[in-house]
Amino acid sequence: MKLFRCQVCDNIVYFENRTCGRCSHRLGYVPELEIIAALEPARGDAWTPLAGDRTLRRFCANADHDVCNWLTAAGRQDRLCLACRHNDTIPDISLAAHLSAWRDIELAKHRLFYSLLRWKLPLKTRAEDPSHGLAFEFLADPPQTSGPRLMTGHDDGVVTIALAEADGAEMEKRRAELAEPYRSLLGHFRHEVGHHYWDILVRDGGRIEQCRAVFGDDSQDYEAAIQRHYAQGAPADWTERFVSAYATCHPWEDFAETWAHYHHIVDTLETASAFGLRIKPAIDKDGAHSARLDFDPYAVGSIDQIIDAWAPFVVAMNSVNRAMGRPDLYPFVLAPAVVEKLRFVHELVRGGAAEPDDGVLAERMTAQAIGEAVER
Ligand SMILES: [Zn+2]
Ligand SMILES: [Zn+2]
Repeated sequence: MKLFRCQVCDNIVYFENRTCGRCSHRLGYVPELEIIAALEPARGDAWTPLAGDRTLRRFCANADHDVCNWLTAAGRQDRLCLACRHNDTIPDISLAAHLSAWRDIELAKHRLFYSLLRWKLPLKTRAEDPSHGLAFEFLADPPQTSGPRLMTGHDDGVVTIALAEADGAEMEKRRAELAEPYRSLLGHFRHEVGHHYWDILVRDGGRIEQCRAVFGDDSQDYEAAIQRHYAQGAPADWTERFVSAYATCHPWEDFAETWAHYHHIVDTLETASAFGLRIKPAIDKDGAHSARLDFDPYAVGSIDQIIDAWAPFVVAMNSVNRAMGRPDLYPFVLAPAVVEKLRFVHELVRGGAAEPDDGVLAERMTAQAIGEAVER
């Protein structure tokens, strides 16, 4: 994640900020420009961004519930932003606990979309592509406690996130039950859209044989593989070939886990780079524990540059967390075979950018057209 700047007072501001802490200007994220803009009120519910082309914008309809700070072109019929127009089902927010959980879910979802838009990955809503568009269902468990728990998952473009995962105690309970070293809402989003982009970029993108060469044969029975995993656990030597124990259960899960880790690594390195972090221990004579983080990992050509920076960075950050008595920031090991899987995902993401007919360009063109009309 980048750092942002208030255009009025030069204060550093952050992705989730609603107002500037120094000059009190209202702030909103302009997704097609990838900036936080300071805003002046204009006519009605429109705002003038004090950045970019200054064309009028409105807040996403979900800003009414304080779950979104993204802006959309003022003249659009659809008042939902590029991230929220993929919401298919939201919980009953007349219940305060649901609204609070939805806010946490939206924080993670907007960070997911920040990355998808940075990579210019294809993004179609269900309205634009009724069979494979990306849609989200944020669902609460049914009131009766005896039935099966609602599960987070993906089915043909529809990602379901269980509202219960926004409850810290419940998430920790599930993490412990599954013996996972790491569990987060953002991790769920990144994993589940991995399944969606497997459909779009691998299966429908003509890359299934290349994918099988790296991740194995996905034609094996999925349900049987999942049941076998929960009955027997991961093979003893899994860390030599997989990024997580769950990745061992089926090549689809291996792909989604690797995809999620690629998200984690790229976005975390961008954050470190934005803060000017560098890893250069004074006692590191041969440079093996040093890393330059001064590059844009969303644009870098080679996975090797990402991994070369990530490895020393993780050692440093895990050590910092241990100094605070906290679990490791990144409790995983990237074996050479896992790096090759990350290389496949990296090349898929870098080669999978959307054709110039996607929603972002449409948004940009709408904004430009309105700006020109206003100027005239
Ligand atoms: Zn300011
Ligand atoms: Zn929104």
